[in-house]
Amino acid sequence: ATPMSIMTATGRGAQAGVLIKNAEALERFEKVDTLIVDKTGTLTEGKPRLVAVLPEPGHDEVEVLRLAASLERGSEHPLAEAIVRGAEERRVELAEATDFEAVTGKGVTGKVDGKPVALGNRALVEELGLDPAALAEKANARRDEGETVMFVLLGREIAGLVSVADPVKETTPAALKALHDLGFRIIMATGDNERTAKAVASRLGIDEIRADVLPEDKARIIRELQEQGYSVAMAGDGVNDAPALAQADVGIAMGTGADVAIESAGFTLVKGNLDGIVRARRLSQATMRNIR
Ligand code: ADP
Ligand code: MG
Repeated sequence: ATPMSIMTATGRGAQAGVLIKNAEALERFEKVDTLIVDKTGTLTEGKPRLVAVLPEPGHDEVEVLRLAASLERGSEHPLAEAIVRGAEERRVELAEATDFEAVTGKGVTGKVDGKPVALGNRALVEELGLDPAALAEKANARRDEGETVMFVLLGREIAGLVSVADPVKETTPAALKALHDLGFRIIMATGDNERTAKAVASRLGIDEIRADVLPEDKARIIRELQEQGYSVAMAGDGVNDAPALAQADVGIAMGTGADVAIESAGFTLVKGNLDGIVRARRLSQATMRNIR
């Protein structure tokens, strides 16, 4: 494309809330046929809230929440924020956790009142040598509502479950419909559980999902699609999404997301709404039409 046509597109994009960082992204986007979208913070608000605390027999609801929230004070994950806020709203007094460690894509571990506590998904429970099977039914009932369920471990026992819900952004359903109509193959990728992912995807009419993915998996999924000949854009907001945004033919960051995601992307959607992608596609097509 000519510098002039790119300047025009960049100006129009900026007015419409789509920041175009480089000309290559604009040129490449015309050929993109596959769109990978992160779930949390991209399709959803990314502001989950605590909706349930389910103690196991012999454990107390307030105590399970106290352990979980005390530990999560050390984490910056949106799920952690939901749990801490939930505890504060319920006026639960928190303790100082020690030995805090984040286990990427799985959860957190540490000590509360000197006792080992862990909080996270099934993979974390298994990594710690425990079997989550007995709680599967209870957990699945929440996941089928689109909630994210986390296990709370105290010592060598599962003390209970905590569940959070993250509402879909108001603009997401219409944007997805428009993107489908433009002919994109749309795949939702998430670190979340398959069951939760399916519940959210089916409400949004997304028929392809990649669930339980670790941050490094997102970039690998994109590379594999590229090797199969697809031209891939990735939309994401998180620190975890940065490698995938860089791997994609076109990375699309949410302006509401992490700085490192924005730095890794070719486009930034200022308001964090996916309808910006529809605009970006039109700008890309107009720019490329100009040079032919
Ligand atoms: P996403 O791709 O949905 O943004 P992440 O890779 O950040 O997901 O996390 C994947 C999963 O790991 C979460 O769904 C959750 O079950 C677990 N997890 C990650 N961080 C935490 C945390 N701080 N507390 C509890 N669970 C966590
Ligand atoms: Mg995210």
